[in-house]
Amino acid sequence: MINKRQKMIGIIIMLFMLMGMPCSAYGISGETIPVYAVRPNTSKASSSAIKLTWSSANDGSVAYYYVMRRGTKNSRGSGKWKTIAQVKSDRRDGGASNSYIDRLKSAKAQQYEYKICLLSVKDKIDTRESRYAKQTNTCAALGTNIKICIDPGHYGSLNNNYDFSGEDRRYPYSEAKFTIKIGKALKKELKTAYGIDSYMTRTGSSISLVYNKKKYTNEKLDKMNIAVRGYMAAKKNCDFFISLHTNETSRTVDPWNQPKSINKVLVFVNRLAHASSRGMKIANAIGVNLTVYNQKAGVQTAGFVKKSRNSAVNFNDQKNDSLNGSGTVMYRKNSAGTDYYGVLRGASAKMVQGVLVEHAFHATQIVREQAGASSALYENWAACDAYGIAYGFGFVNKQRKLS
Ligand SMILES: [Zn+2]
Repeated sequence: MINKRQKMIGIIIMLFMLMGMPCSAYGISGETIPVYAVRPNTSKASSSAIKLTWSSANDGSVAYYYVMRRGTKNSRGSGKWKTIAQVKSDRRDGGASNSYIDRLKSAKAQQYEYKICLLSVKDKIDTRESRYAKQTNTCAALGTNIKICIDPGHYGSLNNNYDFSGEDRRYPYSEAKFTIKIGKALKKELKTAYGIDSYMTRTGSSISLVYNKKKYTNEKLDKMNIAVRGYMAAKKNCDFFISLHTNETSRTVDPWNQPKSINKVLVFVNRLAHASSRGMKIANAIGVNLTVYNQKAGVQTAGFVKKSRNSAVNFNDQKNDSLNGSGTVMYRKNSAGTDYYGVLRGASAKMVQGVLVEHAFHATQIVREQAGASSALYENWAACDAYGIAYGFGFVNKQRKLS
Protein backbone atom coordinates (compact mmCIF):
# COMPACT_ATOMS: atom_id res chain seq x y z
CA MET A 1 0.00 0.00 0.00
CA ILE A 2 1.21 3.46 -0.85
CA ASN A 3 0.30 5.98 1.79
CA LYS A 4 -0.64 9.61 1.18
CA ARG A 5 2.83 10.88 2.03
CA GLN A 6 4.58 8.50 -0.38
CA LYS A 7 2.07 9.47 -3.07
CA MET A 8 2.83 13.17 -2.52
CA ILE A 9 6.58 12.52 -2.70
CA GLY A 10 6.04 10.60 -5.94
CA ILE A 11 4.09 13.48 -7.45
CA ILE A 12 6.73 15.98 -6.38
CA ILE A 13 9.53 13.87 -7.92
CA MET A 14 7.50 13.56 -11.14
CA LEU A 15 6.96 17.33 -11.26
CA PHE A 16 10.68 17.92 -10.86
CA MET A 17 11.40 15.44 -13.66
CA LEU A 18 8.94 17.22 -15.95
CA MET A 19 10.38 20.62 -15.09
CA GLY A 20 13.90 19.47 -15.84
CA MET A 21 12.91 17.96 -19.17
CA PRO A 22 13.87 19.95 -22.25
CA CYS A 23 10.83 20.83 -24.33
CA SER A 24 12.11 18.81 -27.29
CA ALA A 25 12.02 15.58 -25.27
CA TYR A 26 8.25 15.21 -25.31
CA GLY A 27 6.81 12.31 -27.25
CA ILE A 28 3.89 9.90 -27.31
CA SER A 29 4.83 6.22 -27.43
CA GLY A 30 3.76 4.31 -30.53
CA GLU A 31 4.19 7.26 -32.86
CA THR A 32 7.37 7.61 -34.87
CA ILE A 33 8.10 11.18 -33.97
CA PRO A 34 11.07 12.42 -31.95
CA VAL A 35 9.64 15.81 -30.99
CA TYR A 36 6.31 17.59 -31.16
CA ALA A 37 7.60 21.11 -31.14
CA VAL A 38 10.87 22.98 -30.77
CA ARG A 39 11.29 26.04 -28.59
CA PRO A 40 12.34 29.05 -30.66
CA ASN A 41 14.85 31.61 -29.47
CA THR A 42 13.59 35.10 -30.21
CA SER A 43 15.51 38.31 -30.82
CA LYS A 44 14.96 41.77 -32.25
CA ALA A 45 15.85 41.70 -35.97
CA SER A 46 14.96 45.36 -36.57
CA SER A 47 12.50 47.91 -35.21
CA SER A 48 9.77 46.08 -37.13
CA ALA A 49 10.95 42.47 -37.24
CA ILE A 50 11.46 39.62 -34.77
CA LYS A 51 13.92 36.83 -35.53
CA LEU A 52 13.25 33.24 -34.52
CA THR A 53 15.88 30.52 -34.52
CA TRP A 54 15.48 26.91 -33.48
CA SER A 55 17.47 23.70 -33.25
CA SER A 56 18.21 21.59 -36.32
CA ALA A 57 18.87 18.48 -34.21
CA ASN A 58 15.72 16.73 -35.48
CA ASP A 59 15.72 17.94 -39.09
CA GLY A 60 16.17 14.34 -40.31
CA SER A 61 12.68 13.30 -39.26
CA VAL A 62 10.93 16.60 -39.97
CA ALA A 63 9.49 17.53 -43.38
CA TYR A 64 8.23 21.01 -42.48
CA TYR A 65 8.35 23.30 -39.50
CA TYR A 66 5.34 25.53 -38.86
CA VAL A 67 6.00 28.90 -37.26
CA MET A 68 3.01 29.55 -34.98
CA ARG A 69 2.12 32.88 -33.42
CA ARG A 70 -0.52 34.30 -31.12
CA GLY A 71 -1.08 37.51 -29.18
CA THR A 72 -0.41 38.12 -25.49
CA LYS A 73 -2.17 39.62 -22.52
CA ASN A 74 -0.02 40.76 -19.63
CA SER A 75 2.93 38.82 -21.10
CA ARG A 76 0.98 35.53 -21.31
CA GLY A 77 0.04 33.89 -24.60
CA SER A 78 -3.60 34.51 -25.42
CA GLY A 79 -6.04 33.68 -28.20
CA LYS A 80 -5.82 31.31 -31.16
CA TRP A 81 -2.55 30.16 -32.71
CA LYS A 82 -2.00 31.07 -36.34
CA THR A 83 0.47 29.52 -38.75
CA ILE A 84 2.50 32.47 -40.02
CA ALA A 85 5.10 30.52 -42.01
CA GLN A 86 6.09 27.09 -43.23
CA VAL A 87 9.83 26.38 -43.24
CA LYS A 88 11.17 23.39 -45.18
CA SER A 89 13.57 21.15 -43.27
CA ASP A 90 16.86 20.11 -44.93
CA ARG A 91 16.18 16.60 -43.54
CA ARG A 92 19.68 16.29 -42.08
CA ASP A 93 20.08 16.30 -38.31
CA GLY A 94 22.33 19.07 -37.06
CA GLY A 95 24.06 21.82 -39.01
CA ALA A 96 23.06 25.45 -38.95
CA SER A 97 20.00 26.18 -36.86
CA ASN A 98 16.70 26.95 -38.55
CA SER A 99 15.44 30.51 -38.64
CA TYR A 100 12.59 32.74 -39.68
CA ILE A 101 12.09 36.49 -39.58
CA ASP A 102 8.63 37.67 -38.60
CA ARG A 103 8.13 41.02 -40.33
CA LEU A 104 5.70 43.21 -38.41
CA LYS A 105 3.28 45.79 -39.76
CA SER A 106 4.74 48.62 -37.70
CA ALA A 107 7.63 49.58 -35.43
CA LYS A 108 5.50 50.11 -32.34
CA ALA A 109 6.40 47.91 -29.37
CA GLN A 110 4.90 44.47 -29.96
CA GLN A 111 4.92 41.19 -28.09
CA TYR A 112 3.85 37.75 -29.35
CA GLU A 113 4.04 34.17 -28.24
CA TYR A 114 5.66 31.77 -30.72
CA LYS A 115 6.04 28.01 -31.04
CA ILE A 116 7.48 25.81 -33.77
CA CYS A 117 5.21 22.87 -34.67
CA LEU A 118 6.09 20.35 -37.37
CA LEU A 119 5.08 17.77 -39.95
CA SER A 120 6.93 14.49 -39.47
CA VAL A 121 8.51 12.67 -42.43
CA LYS A 122 7.17 9.32 -41.28
CA ASP A 123 3.43 8.99 -40.63
CA LYS A 124 2.92 12.65 -41.64
CA ILE A 125 2.04 13.72 -38.13
CA ASP A 126 1.06 17.40 -38.01
CA THR A 127 1.66 18.64 -34.47
CA ARG A 128 -0.50 21.72 -35.01
CA GLU A 129 -3.45 19.41 -34.32
CA SER A 130 -5.22 20.23 -31.08
CA ARG A 131 -4.44 16.85 -29.51
CA TYR A 132 -0.77 17.88 -29.40
CA ALA A 133 -1.46 21.32 -27.95
CA LYS A 134 -0.47 20.27 -24.45
CA GLN A 135 3.00 19.20 -25.59
CA THR A 136 3.59 21.99 -28.08
CA ASN A 137 2.46 24.78 -25.74
CA THR A 138 5.20 23.87 -23.29
CA CYS A 139 7.67 24.78 -26.07
CA ALA A 140 6.31 28.29 -26.62
CA ALA A 141 8.41 31.42 -26.12
CA LEU A 142 7.66 35.14 -26.01
CA GLY A 143 9.22 37.50 -28.53
CA THR A 144 9.26 41.28 -28.98
CA ASN A 145 10.77 43.89 -31.28
CA ILE A 146 12.34 45.58 -28.22
CA LYS A 147 15.99 45.38 -27.15
CA ILE A 148 17.58 46.74 -23.98
CA CYS A 149 21.19 47.78 -23.41
CA ILE A 150 22.16 46.49 -19.96
CA ASP A 151 25.19 48.23 -18.44
CA PRO A 152 26.52 46.59 -15.26
CA GLY A 153 28.28 49.47 -13.50
CA HIS A 154 32.09 49.63 -13.14
CA TYR A 155 34.44 46.65 -13.74
CA GLY A 156 36.84 44.32 -11.96
CA SER A 157 36.33 44.48 -8.19
CA LEU A 158 35.96 48.25 -7.95
CA ASN A 159 34.06 50.03 -5.17
CA ASN A 160 34.89 47.49 -2.49
CA ASN A 161 35.43 47.58 1.26
CA TYR A 162 38.26 45.02 1.23
CA ASP A 163 40.91 47.38 2.66
CA PHE A 164 38.76 48.99 5.33
CA SER A 165 38.75 47.99 8.99
CA GLY A 166 36.30 47.39 11.81
CA GLU A 167 32.59 47.71 11.01
CA ASP A 168 33.35 49.18 7.57
CA ARG A 169 35.00 45.92 6.64
CA ARG A 170 32.13 43.64 7.64
CA TYR A 171 30.41 41.79 4.79
CA PRO A 172 32.98 42.07 2.00
CA TYR A 173 31.43 43.58 -1.12
CA SER A 174 32.37 44.99 -4.50
CA GLU A 175 29.80 47.03 -6.42
CA ALA A 176 31.37 45.98 -9.73
CA LYS A 177 31.10 42.30 -8.83
CA PHE A 178 27.49 42.64 -7.75
CA THR A 179 26.23 44.64 -10.73
CA ILE A 180 27.32 41.87 -13.10
CA LYS A 181 25.11 39.47 -11.13
CA ILE A 182 22.13 41.84 -11.41
CA GLY A 183 22.88 42.30 -15.12
CA LYS A 184 22.93 38.61 -15.96
CA ALA A 185 19.75 38.00 -13.98
CA LEU A 186 18.12 40.97 -15.74
CA LYS A 187 19.02 39.63 -19.19
CA LYS A 188 17.48 36.26 -18.34
CA GLU A 189 14.34 37.76 -16.80
CA LEU A 190 13.72 40.14 -19.71
CA LYS A 191 13.88 37.26 -22.18
CA THR A 192 11.99 34.53 -20.35
CA ALA A 193 9.28 36.62 -18.68
CA TYR A 194 8.68 39.19 -21.44
CA GLY A 195 10.47 38.08 -24.63
CA ILE A 196 12.62 41.23 -24.53
CA ASP A 197 16.03 41.02 -26.21
CA SER A 198 19.13 42.59 -24.63
CA TYR A 199 22.80 43.42 -25.04
CA MET A 200 25.24 43.64 -22.11
CA THR A 201 28.14 46.12 -22.12
CA ARG A 202 30.10 43.53 -20.13
CA THR A 203 29.51 39.90 -19.23
CA GLY A 204 32.67 39.29 -17.23
CA SER A 205 34.97 41.07 -14.82
CA SER A 206 36.58 43.40 -17.35
CA ILE A 207 34.91 45.59 -19.96
CA SER A 208 36.12 46.14 -23.50
CA LEU A 209 34.03 48.06 -26.02
CA VAL A 210 34.70 48.84 -29.67
CA TYR A 211 33.24 52.05 -31.03
CA ASN A 212 34.18 53.73 -34.33
CA LYS A 213 36.92 51.11 -34.74
CA LYS A 214 38.55 52.16 -31.45
CA LYS A 215 38.78 49.77 -28.54
CA TYR A 216 38.23 51.01 -24.98
CA THR A 217 39.10 48.74 -22.06
CA ASN A 218 38.55 49.10 -18.30
CA GLU A 219 40.29 52.26 -17.00
CA LYS A 220 40.73 53.75 -20.48
CA LEU A 221 36.98 53.42 -20.93
CA ASP A 222 35.69 54.53 -17.55
CA LYS A 223 38.19 57.32 -16.80
CA MET A 224 38.24 59.02 -20.20
CA ASN A 225 35.52 57.62 -22.45
CA ILE A 226 32.72 56.37 -20.22
CA ALA A 227 30.06 57.75 -22.59
CA VAL A 228 30.97 54.87 -24.93
CA ARG A 229 28.96 52.58 -22.63
CA GLY A 230 25.91 54.63 -23.58
CA TYR A 231 26.88 54.81 -27.27
CA MET A 232 26.67 51.01 -27.39
CA ALA A 233 22.90 51.22 -26.92
CA ALA A 234 22.58 52.78 -30.37
CA LYS A 235 25.29 50.65 -31.96
CA LYS A 236 23.49 47.49 -30.83
CA ASN A 237 20.10 48.76 -32.00
CA CYS A 238 18.66 49.02 -28.48
CA ASP A 239 15.48 50.87 -27.53
CA PHE A 240 16.43 51.67 -23.95
CA PHE A 241 19.58 51.85 -21.80
CA ILE A 242 19.86 50.82 -18.14
CA SER A 243 22.98 51.20 -16.01
CA LEU A 244 23.06 49.09 -12.84
CA HIS A 245 24.54 50.39 -9.59
CA THR A 246 24.47 50.31 -5.82
CA ASN A 247 24.87 53.59 -3.99
CA GLU A 248 27.43 55.13 -1.66
CA THR A 249 27.58 58.20 0.54
CA SER A 250 29.72 61.31 0.23
CA ARG A 251 30.36 61.06 3.99
CA THR A 252 33.94 60.24 4.92
CA VAL A 253 33.16 58.96 8.42
CA ASP A 254 32.02 55.32 8.49
CA PRO A 255 31.61 55.24 4.70
CA TRP A 256 30.74 51.52 4.76
CA ASN A 257 28.80 51.54 8.02
CA GLN A 258 25.91 53.90 7.31
CA PRO A 259 22.55 53.43 9.07
CA LYS A 260 19.85 51.42 7.31
CA SER A 261 17.72 54.60 7.18
CA ILE A 262 19.96 55.98 4.41
CA ASN A 263 18.57 53.31 2.07
CA LYS A 264 16.32 54.55 -0.70
CA VAL A 265 15.95 53.85 -4.41
CA LEU A 266 17.23 56.56 -6.75
CA VAL A 267 16.49 56.27 -10.46
CA PHE A 268 18.37 58.79 -12.62
CA VAL A 269 16.80 59.52 -16.00
CA ASN A 270 18.78 60.84 -18.93
CA ARG A 271 17.70 63.97 -20.81
CA LEU A 272 15.59 62.00 -23.29
CA ALA A 273 13.88 59.75 -20.74
CA HIS A 274 13.15 62.81 -18.60
CA ALA A 275 11.27 64.42 -21.49
CA SER A 276 9.39 61.23 -22.37
CA SER A 277 6.27 59.78 -20.75
CA ARG A 278 7.55 56.27 -21.53
CA GLY A 279 10.95 57.04 -20.02
CA MET A 280 9.37 58.35 -16.84
CA LYS A 281 6.92 55.44 -16.76
CA ILE A 282 9.87 53.02 -16.74
CA ALA A 283 11.80 55.06 -14.14
CA ASN A 284 8.81 55.29 -11.79
CA ALA A 285 7.88 51.62 -12.16
CA ILE A 286 11.44 50.48 -11.45
CA GLY A 287 11.59 52.76 -8.41
CA VAL A 288 8.23 51.68 -7.02
CA ASN A 289 8.92 47.96 -7.44
CA LEU A 290 12.45 48.09 -6.01
CA THR A 291 11.12 50.06 -3.03
CA VAL A 292 8.37 47.51 -2.36
CA TYR A 293 10.92 44.69 -2.56
CA ASN A 294 13.51 46.44 -0.38
CA GLN A 295 10.87 47.13 2.26
CA LYS A 296 9.75 43.48 2.21
CA ALA A 297 13.35 42.29 2.44
CA GLY A 298 13.99 44.56 5.42
CA VAL A 299 16.58 46.61 3.54
CA GLN A 300 14.77 49.95 3.85
CA THR A 301 11.76 51.67 5.37
CA ALA A 302 11.79 54.75 3.13
CA GLY A 303 9.14 55.07 0.43
CA PHE A 304 9.32 56.28 -3.16
CA VAL A 305 7.98 59.52 -4.62
CA LYS A 306 6.99 59.23 -8.28
CA LYS A 307 7.73 62.06 -10.68
CA SER A 308 6.11 63.08 -13.94
CA ARG A 309 7.66 64.13 -17.23
CA ASN A 310 10.17 67.01 -16.98
CA SER A 311 9.75 67.25 -13.20
CA ALA A 312 12.37 64.87 -11.78
CA VAL A 313 14.26 66.00 -8.66
CA ASN A 314 17.58 67.80 -9.04
CA PHE A 315 20.38 65.83 -7.43
CA ASN A 316 22.50 67.02 -4.54
CA ASP A 317 24.61 65.23 -1.92
CA GLN A 318 22.24 66.12 0.94
CA LYS A 319 19.33 64.38 -0.80
CA ASN A 320 21.51 61.40 -1.65
CA ASP A 321 22.79 61.05 1.92
CA SER A 322 19.60 61.96 3.81
CA LEU A 323 18.37 59.62 6.53
CA ASN A 324 14.70 58.57 6.30
CA GLY A 325 14.36 60.42 3.00
CA SER A 326 12.26 58.93 0.21
CA GLY A 327 13.63 57.55 -3.00
CA THR A 328 12.59 59.24 -6.23
CA VAL A 329 13.38 59.88 -9.89
CA MET A 330 16.31 62.26 -10.30
CA TYR A 331 17.76 64.23 -13.17
CA ARG A 332 21.37 65.26 -12.68
CA LYS A 333 22.91 67.83 -14.99
CA ASN A 334 26.55 68.85 -15.32
CA SER A 335 27.78 72.45 -15.61
CA ALA A 336 27.41 72.25 -19.39
CA GLY A 337 23.70 71.52 -18.92
CA THR A 338 23.82 67.95 -20.23
CA ASP A 339 23.61 64.62 -18.39
CA TYR A 340 26.06 64.47 -15.48
CA TYR A 341 26.64 60.73 -15.74
CA GLY A 342 28.77 59.82 -18.74
CA VAL A 343 26.85 56.64 -19.46
CA LEU A 344 23.54 58.53 -19.61
CA ARG A 345 25.14 61.35 -21.60
CA GLY A 346 26.36 58.77 -24.11
CA ALA A 347 22.90 57.25 -24.53
CA SER A 348 21.33 60.73 -24.89
CA ALA A 349 23.92 61.69 -27.51
CA LYS A 350 22.88 58.69 -29.59
CA MET A 351 19.15 59.35 -29.10
CA VAL A 352 18.48 56.44 -26.73
CA GLN A 353 16.45 56.94 -23.57
CA GLY A 354 18.04 55.58 -20.44
CA VAL A 355 18.18 55.30 -16.66
CA LEU A 356 20.87 54.72 -14.06
CA VAL A 357 19.51 52.77 -11.11
CA GLU A 358 20.90 53.01 -7.58
CA HIS A 359 19.15 49.94 -6.13
CA ALA A 360 20.15 50.63 -2.49
CA PHE A 361 23.25 51.69 -0.54
CA HIS A 362 26.14 49.25 -0.34
CA ALA A 363 27.30 51.68 2.34
CA THR A 364 24.94 49.82 4.71
CA GLN A 365 25.71 46.44 6.25
CA ILE A 366 22.19 45.13 5.67
CA VAL A 367 22.60 45.43 1.89
CA ARG A 368 26.03 43.79 1.89
CA GLU A 369 24.83 41.04 4.21
CA GLN A 370 21.91 40.16 1.91
CA ALA A 371 24.07 40.50 -1.19
CA GLY A 372 26.46 37.90 0.15
CA ALA A 373 23.92 35.54 1.70
CA SER A 374 22.07 34.26 -1.38
CA SER A 375 20.94 35.05 -4.91
CA ALA A 376 17.67 36.56 -3.62
CA LEU A 377 18.76 40.21 -3.63
CA TYR A 378 20.14 40.41 -7.16
CA GLU A 379 17.45 38.16 -8.62
CA ASN A 380 14.65 40.22 -7.11
CA TRP A 381 16.28 43.51 -8.07
CA ALA A 382 16.62 42.22 -11.63
CA ALA A 383 12.96 41.14 -11.62
CA CYS A 384 11.91 44.66 -10.51
CA ASP A 385 14.07 46.32 -13.20
CA ALA A 386 12.71 43.97 -15.89
CA TYR A 387 9.13 44.54 -14.77
CA GLY A 388 9.53 48.32 -14.91
CA ILE A 389 10.88 48.06 -18.45
CA ALA A 390 8.10 45.69 -19.53
CA TYR A 391 5.53 48.06 -18.02
CA GLY A 392 6.96 51.03 -19.90
CA PHE A 393 6.69 49.18 -23.21
CA GLY A 394 3.11 48.11 -22.45
CA PHE A 395 3.75 44.39 -21.94
CA VAL A 396 2.27 44.33 -18.43
CA ASN A 397 -0.74 46.29 -17.22
CA LYS A 398 -0.08 47.21 -13.63
CA GLN A 399 2.71 49.45 -12.38
CA ARG A 400 3.28 47.28 -9.32
CA LYS A 401 4.57 43.75 -9.65
CA LEU A 402 4.35 42.92 -5.95
CA SER A 403 1.41 43.75 -3.72
ZN1 LIG B 1 28.22 52.79 -9.17
